[in-house]
Amino acid sequence: MRIIQRAYKTELDLNDRQIAACKRHAGAARWAYNWGLARKQEDFRTIGASPSAIDLHRELNALKQTTLPWMYEVSKCAPQEALRNLDSAFTHFYRRVQLKQQGKLRGKVGYPQRKTKKRGLGSFRLTGSIIVFSDAIQLPRLGRLRLKERGYVPTTAKILSAPVSEQAEHWYVSVLVEQEHVVPANSGPTVGVDLGVKTLATLSDGATEPNPRHLRTCLKKLKRLQRAVSRKQKGSGNRRKAVRKVAILHRTVANQRANTLHQLTSRLAKTKAVVMVEDLNVAGMLKNHHLAQAISDVGFGEFRRQLTYKASWYGCRVIVASRWEPSSKTCSGCGWEDEDLSLADRVFRCEQCGQVLDRDLNSAINLEKLAGSSSDSHNACGEGSAGLGQVALVKPSSMKQEPNTFNASA
Ligand SMILES: [Zn+2]
Repeated sequence: MRIIQRAYKTELDLNDRQIAACKRHAGAARWAYNWGLARKQEDFRTIGASPSAIDLHRELNALKQTTLPWMYEVSKCAPQEALRNLDSAFTHFYRRVQLKQQGKLRGKVGYPQRKTKKRGLGSFRLTGSIIVFSDAIQLPRLGRLRLKERGYVPTTAKILSAPVSEQAEHWYVSVLVEQEHVVPANSGPTVGVDLGVKTLATLSDGATEPNPRHLRTCLKKLKRLQRAVSRKQKGSGNRRKAVRKVAILHRTVANQRANTLHQLTSRLAKTKAVVMVEDLNVAGMLKNHHLAQAISDVGFGEFRRQLTYKASWYGCRVIVASRWEPSSKTCSGCGWEDEDLSLADRVFRCEQCGQVLDRDLNSAINLEKLAGSSSDSHNACGEGSAGLGQVALVKPSSMKQEPNTFNASA
């Protein structure tokens, strides 16, 4: 038995009055975030230090009594939590700056930006007295809001917070709860999983998970709609309508992507005892433009994130092989290496033992074997004890340890 944190995200079924109230809360959160950002920058310029979320909240409360009476209409959590978010945005920024200086980061460091309504109405987070019913949720200030899905959010768990967010005119609440969790005994097989562009996942037992084609269709449509937006005059009603269409399609694409990945990762975590995956250098592969779209479609990073936290719930172990392990170039039958294998070669032909099989399947079988050999090696040296749901650190040179994240939505 262990205590885990888990988020349950579900859609709200709101009436007009409730939508208006949610918009006011999101507006207050956005305002507080932007105001806090400006205050931090101002103090940093003048006195070289910036105020904390607590300082800013105190200052904001004073302003509320004089210049911001409208703030009384929203729960005090909305601006308070927005200021906390601002603090963590800066923490992440400084962490990334440090990584950049150490040469460990390729991307942008991401200085915290102002929140604008252009990027959607945004979100706000509520804490305090929150009660979940089978078909509704009671939130501070907003009262009882209906949920579209019955019985999904647990009604008895301890609730930590409830962020409410908007996407393409749909409102969602993500209830973060703390709950006791019993890890079931998992006596499933060991499996190697090869992630690919043509096929989303190939398992060493021969099963495959196709890449959702509808996603590709939607992405084409998305491109067309985005072009339509850029043709419309700025500030015009037509442009607003076109932007709305893009937002709706974005939601569809995001949902499809999440669905496919959630189904796959749940199935793996529930039915396999050990899952061996390859550590793809996703950032590096994204530089190849042909692969870029396809890879960001399937969300490899997201796959690993989901698999890791679900593994911890279902008593499964995830092992990550190094990106230098030549799983796709090695024959799974005899170990011969095909140095000339290119990404275009879909079939693996062994020149030594004559084995011919699907390239991804060959790689998946190699990964499964690696899992077997690695568990031997850590019995031998007693290193990297891999508990349930943890990622084993098997060979320090080529395997890598994954942080365990429970704080994720399912
Ligand atoms: Zn061979």
